[in-house]
Amino acid sequence: MNETAYGVAYAKHTDFRCTGPECIDNCCRTLTWSINVDDKSCEKYSQVDGDFGDELRAGIIETENGWKFASKENGYCIFLTEDGWCKIHAKLGADGLCDICASFPRAYLPYNGVLQYFLNLSCPVAAEIMLFDRQPVEFIKFETHINKSELLSVIPRNEFSPELNAALRELTYSILKERSISLIQRLFYMGVVYKGLFALGNDEKAIFQKMEAYKEFLANDKDLKSLPDAFNRDESALDVYKNLFEMLKILVSGAGKETVNTGFFERIRRVFSGDAAFPVDRIDEARLKFCENYLLKKEYVFENYLVCRMSLDFFPVNCANLDLAYKSFILLFSLLQILIAITYFDKEEISDGDVLNCIYFFSRKLHAHGLVERMEKMLEDAEGIDFAYFLGSIAI
Ligand code: SF4
Ligand code: SF4
Repeated sequence: MNETAYGVAYAKHTDFRCTGPECIDNCCRTLTWSINVDDKSCEKYSQVDGDFGDELRAGIIETENGWKFASKENGYCIFLTEDGWCKIHAKLGADGLCDICASFPRAYLPYNGVLQYFLNLSCPVAAEIMLFDRQPVEFIKFETHINKSELLSVIPRNEFSPELNAALRELTYSILKERSISLIQRLFYMGVVYKGLFALGNDEKAIFQKMEAYKEFLANDKDLKSLPDAFNRDESALDVYKNLFEMLKILVSGAGKETVNTGFFERIRRVFSGDAAFPVDRIDEARLKFCENYLLKKEYVFENYLVCRMSLDFFPVNCANLDLAYKSFILLFSLLQILIAITYFDKEEISDGDVLNCIYFFSRKLHAHGLVERMEKMLEDAEGIDFAYFLGSIAI
């Protein structure tokens, strides 16, 4: 039975239009993804008559985890036509698509009785809409009708109540969007807040009270101006950067060959592998150059990125505790910065297109190769390191 519920979406959610054959990295051509076909769609495809019905069933293969579309030799989805459109869509219409194909890059997940809608940053068109808007990312609330029994809810990794998790997320959005101070100061203050709240354990009443004090701080210009704007750079950070560099090498392995965005993939392969690979000792230099040439000039792009990332990951629900949540967030951001910095190290000016390339690619790869798990392991090993040093590399 369909019930009325609330949904929350980015205000720009409806601006997305798939560009299909014109897309710089069409998701139906991506070599490393597999498109899982949901049970309902398999059932639907089993009823299709005629030659196309046979073609459809021949193009779906069984895996350990269910069903997926087969791919051609070049890695493209078997139903992608020569002119870059979807044959299933052409033959059966939009209703013929399986769940993933029908929704990507849109997605939604319910949490605490509210449906959170997203635009996935792995799609370059969606990422462009979300990242390059000079206005802060806004969320709109609306009524929606769903069959609640069909929905899988987000399973929290922390032990907080949904109300507290939602309040924490709201507070963190407010910090990240506080443009009267620099992005680096916002991230630093986020660290102060998370450290302070982590110290209160699972005492939700005390956490809610302390959050009120942090909100007052945010609302007071004089308090905000008291935040430091430069941080000590700790040389031990270089070891962490080197580990991140190793992770990036894994991330770029198998970067697409047959996509429209060939210039980007050629560059990324050249920089991360082979004889001409970027020398790891110059990571710090590359990152500083990137900060000076792009990040400090266009902080809003990374603010938008961080807000979207947080919403996509259901931050901080996705982490076992607040200490880990903050550190993973900063580590993730550092990983992205290093990717951009190294990929475009030899360019005088980094363009919005360069940054877009790295962000959608990074988002596409992030959950592949167990990278998130590797990051968590790195955090365990990095015990005792002050995470402000990551920020130190931005404050120049
Ligand atoms: S990546 Fe986005 S714009 Fe490109 S083909 Fe896929 S859905 Fe369309
Ligand atoms: S079935 Fe169609 S939309 Fe889905 S991946 Fe294949 S070509 Fe793309």
